[in-house]
Amino acid sequence: MRYSYINNLECPKCSKQYSAEEIQQLCSCGSPLLARYDLQSLKNDIHKEDLQSRENSLWRYHEVLPVLNEKNVKTLGEGMTPLLALERAGEELQLYKLYLKDEGLVPTGSFKARGAAVGVSKAMELGVKELAMPTNGNAGAAWSLYSAKAGIRAHVVMPLDAPEITRKEVSISGGKLYLVDGVISDAGKITAQLIKENGYFDASTLKEPYRIEGKKTMGYEIAEQFGWELPDVILYPTGGGVGLIGIYKAFLEMQELGWINGPFPRLVAVQAEGCAPIVKAYVEGKKESDFWDNSETKAFGINVPKALGDFLVLEAIYETKGCAIAVSEEEITNAQQFIAKSEGQFICPEGAATVAAADKLRESGWIGTEERVVCLNTGVGIKYPDTVDYKARYMEKIHH
Ligand SMILES: *Cc1c(COP(=O)(O)O)cnc(C)c1O
Ligand SMILES: [Zn+2]
Repeated sequence: MRYSYINNLECPKCSKQYSAEEIQQLCSCGSPLLARYDLQSLKNDIHKEDLQSRENSLWRYHEVLPVLNEKNVKTLGEGMTPLLALERAGEELQLYKLYLKDEGLVPTGSFKARGAAVGVSKAMELGVKELAMPTNGNAGAAWSLYSAKAGIRAHVVMPLDAPEITRKEVSISGGKLYLVDGVISDAGKITAQLIKENGYFDASTLKEPYRIEGKKTMGYEIAEQFGWELPDVILYPTGGGVGLIGIYKAFLEMQELGWINGPFPRLVAVQAEGCAPIVKAYVEGKKESDFWDNSETKAFGINVPKALGDFLVLEAIYETKGCAIAVSEEEITNAQQFIAKSEGQFICPEGAATVAAADKLRESGWIGTEERVVCLNTGVGIKYPDTVDYKARYMEKIHH
């Protein structure tokens, strides 16, 4: 049996096919490319029950990942994160089947490790020596760390305001760090220039086809962790939307494999009020989003004014009868405190946004109190110490 069942890459816009055995970036029409697998053969070769005895990482799904040779897998143990029932919080929110998938426990402290593990492993397999990317912090940190393991040089361009810890993660792992006074789209322009001048591999979100393959494993894990009975709603903090597109892609693949039945979970794209291009497009019933000017939010991972894969995000929302919703900065902070106080979990602001959104959607009746709801906590709260205000007790005494 093959380690990977990848066939080729396909353009979701114009259906053009590309080889997965050579370096590819975007389709000639400008669209991202998606990996396609020989699911019919795989369906005959393995059964979902065969997965049970496998290693507890995302590589348990290696047949539907693009790395051809197991030797090229660069792993730090990413994936198979806990799916936790939020009983106390759920009681309070009247969401009696509320779950949190905690991506704060993956290496590098954010779910970007999934995309980096698969993206970097495949890049190495294809002979990439140097790559470049813009980032809001976490992706750059993860790609720099995994690149170190793969012996690849990473050039990482990030906004000055990105969480400072992510600069240090790039720096300590030998990545080359570039700071930009602007947002991620400005970092994107610098990256394009670096690539043009030096011929680096372009590892920007969706400009290489394999980061999404790593992120889609969240969809496989959710299905497996629920005993192949999918939940009703999944809320995802949406920046570039790669995780949401990936989860939807996983559901389509699993359906074809006969691993799941019935309706898909309704996928909810959660954004911050200060950067909500997908929400705006959804409200207007559009298939693509417009650039969001002067975007701002403390949930830095979702500060993306215009996503390359916006049309795929919107398609996933429409096809699953999901929705898109924005939450305020205050709602994010309150939800972050609420989860820490009720569940003992210090989640990241992006993850907190999904809890705030679940609360609003339950209130409006869009989510029923008995529905099974999964919030994705995409990172660990301790990466963002500045989002928390505190008052120390006994400060005066210590002063004297
Ligand atoms: C990158 C990031 C997101 C958004 O992920 P996309 O797949 O780009 O939408 C959410 N949360 C955190 C913590 C992130 O780092
Ligand atoms: Zn195309």
